[in-house]
Amino acid sequence: MTDYDPSNIFAKIIKGEIPSVKLYEDDDALAFMDVMPQAPGHLLVIPKQGSRNLLDADPAVLAKLMPVVQKLAVAARQAFDADGVYVGQFNEPAAGQTVFHLHFHVIPRHDGQPLKPHIGGMENIDVLKANAEKIKACL
Ligand code: AMP
Repeated sequence: MTDYDPSNIFAKIIKGEIPSVKLYEDDDALAFMDVMPQAPGHLLVIPKQGSRNLLDADPAVLAKLMPVVQKLAVAARQAFDADGVYVGQFNEPAAGQTVFHLHFHVIPRHDGQPLKPHIGGMENIDVLKANAEKIKACL
């Protein structure tokens, strides 16, 4: 496993160097819409402190992050009237990780509706913004 690279795309989102459709922010965490959603409402929750993934994360950072993951999962479920919510994350390329800053995927799920592929097509920005407004209204 290599070290944390602070030039990754999520570190740039935290610093405001590239745009994101933000949902929630506090001193330690940020939540924003995934640009290639596997289902409507797919969002990401990240700590502001850099770690490559879960394997090298500071437990104290995780302790502050998980309540935010829960908060966003509850809001996403309500916003999309979902039957369930997938929460997950990947560690290293062999497990499917493509961005090397710890992030939790939160995806509203509906019975019988399959997910789109991981790293599929980019969603229209207006659709992402409209879905973000639905989630923010439930926070
Ligand atoms: P993974 O590292 O495999 O867990 O996935 C990284 C996730 O980040 C994918 O679901 C991408 O669609 C998403 N993603 C990549 N770049 C951006 C970005 N600039 N803004 C929002 N989501 C992104």
